Amino acid sequence: MGICSYCGCEFPKTRATRKYCTSRCKTNACLTRKPSRIRAADVQAIYALLQDDFDSADELMGRLRSILLPGSEPVVSSAPPADAAAFIPRLD
Ligand SMILES: [Zn+2]
Repeated sequence: MGICSYCGCEFPKTRATRKYCTSRCKTNACLTRKPSRIRAADVQAIYALLQDDFDSADELMGRLRSILLPGSEPVVSSAPPADAAAFIPRLD
């Protein structure tokens, strides 16, 4: 018996299925797998990114996300605006 790598149920191991109990589980595991490779075009885009200047780390993060995770929600920075952080009370 084996343990399905997707749903965790026990199933009899065969030559055809050694990791997943059914082809459905194999397909689902394929669909939910986290992408661990970067497409060649994205690598080129990241190298191009290295040549650019950025006003803030957030801007760089946004550009990186747009390359690696197209369609993802833009990150809303929770940091206070720079003006508020730089405010220094007068002591007179
Ligand atoms: Zn399964």
